[in-house]
This record gives sequence, C-alpha cells and structure tokens, in this order.
Amino acid sequence: MRVCVFCGAKSGRDERWGLMAEATGRAIAERGWTLVYGGGGVGLMGRMAQAAMAAGGTVQGVIPRSLIRQEAGAFPITQLDIVDTMAERKTLMLERANAFIALPGGLGTLDELFEVLTLRQIGLHSKPVALVDDGAYFQPLRRMLEAFTAEGFVLDAHVSYIGWHDTVEAALDQLAAESKPS
Ligand code: AMP
Repeated sequence: MRVCVFCGAKSGRDERWGLMAEATGRAIAERGWTLVYGGGGVGLMGRMAQAAMAAGGTVQGVIPRSLIRQEAGAFPITQLDIVDTMAERKTLMLERANAFIALPGGLGTLDELFEVLTLRQIGLHSKPVALVDDGAYFQPLRRMLEAFTAEGFVLDAHVSYIGWHDTVEAALDQLAAESKPS
C-alpha cells in the first residue's frame, strides 16, 4: 500500500493534531506501507514524516522547487522528488498513491483533498479517501457537503466514498479494505 497523506504545513493551535500526525506516520510505517506526502519538514507534515522515518518506514516526498526553502525538512526521507510546479506535485502524489488520507490542515490540504475527490467524481480513479479528525476538525466540512448535497449540487454517491474517522487505525483499516493492488 502507498498512502498519500495531506495535512497542514502548520502545526495548528492544539498539540493533539501534532500527536495525530505522528501517530499517522508511525501507523503507516508499522503496517509496512509507504507514506507519500508533500515532502515538507514543517508543521504536521514534518511531524508525520519524521515519525514514519523513526519507525523504519518508507517515505516518499514530492516538493516543488519554489517551496524547498519554505517547507523542506532538515531530516532525511527515503526519496524526495523535486518538481517544477504545484500541479506536478499533486499529479505525482496522486499517481503514486493507491489511497488517500487527509488530516487537519489548511487551504493546501483542502485543495489536495478536493483534487482527489473531483477526479474520483468524474471517474478518473477509484482510490479510497479517508479523513481523520478525532471527531472535531472536519465536521464543518461534513456539514457543508451535506448542505450542498441537500441543495442538489453534490451527489450523495460522490460524498459517500469519503470515510470520516476518529482514529488513524480506523482510517487505515478502511483504506486496506477498499484498496485494489496497483
Ligand atoms: P496547508 O494545508 O495550507 O498548510 O498546506 C499543506 C500543503 O499543501 C503544503 O505543503 C502546501 O505547499 C501544499 N499546497 C498548497 N497549495 C497547493 C496546490 N495548489 N497544489 C499542491 N500543493 C499545495
């Protein structure tokens, strides 16, 4: 399994998100899966990647040249690909992974998440998507999607493939159950 995780380049106010990011990196490594991510060493991204490396995991990062200064980490990862544009970064992460997780994050995290969702909506892939927030962070997003669905602009079928989870382990179980080998 190669799981791409989208999460904040910031740490957020509450330390519990940093701990969740570390738990995610560790859990992916412990399952023997590969972590694919944006290649940064900052915020939740950095906490997650460092924890995965410390647990003996395989970590593949993809970072645009223009963000190296701002986001790159001081710790080694298994493989870091440097690309020219943000669009290339997303494309490479999407191609590499066979499943996706979003943890709390900001606009970049949402952009990446919605790219995966919209590509699946138009049938360009069928890879599973899970969100982990311990019951809090993504709930406004969930309500927004329910409201959009009620208004008829979003199909139930297109939001129903998002798995909403309190724990990382539950999210990884969903991905394992839904993934097709590639
Ligand atoms: P954020 O959730 O805003 O903290 O950002 C999380 C990650 O998403 C960071 O590594 C950002 O560089 C990245 N990001 C932001 N916008 C984009 C984009 N348009 N395409 C690809 N990655 C992005």
